Amino acid sequence: MADERAERIAEFIGPLRVKPGSKVNLRRDFDPRYRAGMRKRDGIELLRTGVSLLAEYQERLAAQNTYGVLLCLQALDAGGKDGTIRHVMSGVNPQGVRVSSFKVPSTEELDHDYLWRYACRLPGRGEIGIFNRSHYEEVLVVRVHPENLVRQKLPDEAGGPGLWDRRYREINNWERYLTDNGFKVVKIFLNLSKEEQRIRFMKRIDLPERNWKFSAADVRERRRWDDYQHAFSEMLSATSTKWAPWYVVPADRKWFARICAAAVLAHTLMDIDPQYPEVGKQARKDLLAAKRELEHEAPAGAPADPYASRHPTADRAADGNDTPAADGRASGTGRPTKKKRG
Ligand code: AMP
Ligand code: MG
Repeated sequence: MADERAERIAEFIGPLRVKPGSKVNLRRDFDPRYRAGMRKRDGIELLRTGVSLLAEYQERLAAQNTYGVLLCLQALDAGGKDGTIRHVMSGVNPQGVRVSSFKVPSTEELDHDYLWRYACRLPGRGEIGIFNRSHYEEVLVVRVHPENLVRQKLPDEAGGPGLWDRRYREINNWERYLTDNGFKVVKIFLNLSKEEQRIRFMKRIDLPERNWKFSAADVRERRRWDDYQHAFSEMLSATSTKWAPWYVVPADRKWFARICAAAVLAHTLMDIDPQYPEVGKQARKDLLAAKRELEHEAPAGAPADPYASRHPTADRAADGNDTPAADGRASGTGRPTKKKRG
């Protein structure tokens, strides 16, 4: 069942993944209006399924406390980053998720190497970290507006020709290092069309309650549309790797973009396939000792184990053996334990 779901998700997101080593031309290769033949009505139901799937896997990720996940979200203004985060993460436990937004760097941030501020916000083990904008701004806005680079006060030998290729390499190496140490990195580019951006800007201007979302800088950036498309294409070509792939998510339809983002994250979690930790022999003995003690504290007339008396098949810790319970659950934990695939 789980494997079948995993397969369906893998198939769905396959066309969105940037093949490592391929040369991307955004306009030619990715259609912002693509929707895999899906209708909105079906899509909303699918998103609901995806969200509950994420909740399930996130709980296991947290319980196992071995792997972390970093999801990087990039898009042009009005690309839908905020809404995607809000919808996709709506079902997960907020304790296990850490969202970090990156704006124009502060003086303190500029006083460090360019990856420093992103490293400070990485998720811990058991956590999902979401970067709303990410270290990729360092090869996007910084590339389109070189005055940002001047502010970074690089020594002469660190600037000059080859700078962007070097950054791509450094970013790939950094992500490789994170992956090798248990932190899966996955990257989503919300691919918006120029006309859809215009429509969304208009809405932000026309509706007073949306005005706060619009800034004059947004139209200034829009004038550099072609430069950004080029910077995105270069970035996707150079930094989609086997260990940290890019997904180009069609973003003109918000509902479809959200399904894709949920699917990409679910795929990453399913690939980790986190497990609830199994209790070892000594820990089980300790559990049983604690259980005896609690049983002795039962007031007169109360069952020794109120939980087991209400759930006759759920708890077998009292048996003190490791045989599975009749309902197929592992003994003791009262939770389904899944065996690692393959
Ligand atoms: P917003 O996400 O709309 O709140 O805007 C944040 C702004 O910060 C955007 O205009 C980004 O281009 C800008 N920004 C993010 N990271 C960097 C960076 N490393 N250098 C310069 N500007 C940045
Ligand atoms: Mg903005």
